[in-house]
Amino acid sequence: MATITCGWCNTRCHVTPTGEVAVTERWGYGDRAYVADATYKCDGCGRLSVVSWVTNHSPSDRTWSSYGRTGEPEDYEDQRWYPTPRSQMDFPDVPEEIASAAEEAWLCRSAGAFRAAVALARAVVESTAKAKGITGTGIAAKIDQLAAQGLIRAAVSEQAHEIRHLGNGAAHGDLGDPVTAEDSEEVLHLMGEVLNEVWQSPARAARLAAARKAKKSNP
Ligand SMILES: [Zn+2]
Repeated sequence: MATITCGWCNTRCHVTPTGEVAVTERWGYGDRAYVADATYKCDGCGRLSVVSWVTNHSPSDRTWSSYGRTGEPEDYEDQRWYPTPRSQMDFPDVPEEIASAAEEAWLCRSAGAFRAAVALARAVVESTAKAKGITGTGIAAKIDQLAAQGLIRAAVSEQAHEIRHLGNGAAHGDLGDPVTAEDSEEVLHLMGEVLNEVWQSPARAARLAAARKAKKSNP
């Protein structure tokens, strides 16, 4: 039993294996390895995802079950799930160029372009600050200014700095810093928090206030 963010319903769900695992033997650098493919059904939406992973234990070799191997991908094995989750967020109150960059960051992630995803997330945070008239040098100072001006809370500012840390490697040419699928997903959710805090929540509050006033004047 695995838990993934389902690429169909974009929700964190349990998925259940639906049938046989297809196993292909792969030889590389003298080590025997196996590429395994399997289908899983989402317990939430009922749709199928395919997972491919590389393993040193043939999942179809039942002798491994006595060692606790289930024949399913393990957390430490490189797993690729298809379809990958796309943008889970709508950004209706975010300025268009920033919203489209945020959506593109999700698109990068779904294509397995994890470094590009975090580099764009970093750009989204920086351009959010600029759109709010913050022009300090560097992204760190801009995040601090967002917090100092009360546009984001302290907790969200910490998240924005996490995006900065991960995005800096890709943005400044330190390409040796690995970015995993999990890292990139985490960063994209953090990016969503920042956009929510700066644009979405205030717009929602303004709409509610306007509706309340309209009701008062037309009882
Ligand atoms: Zn689903």
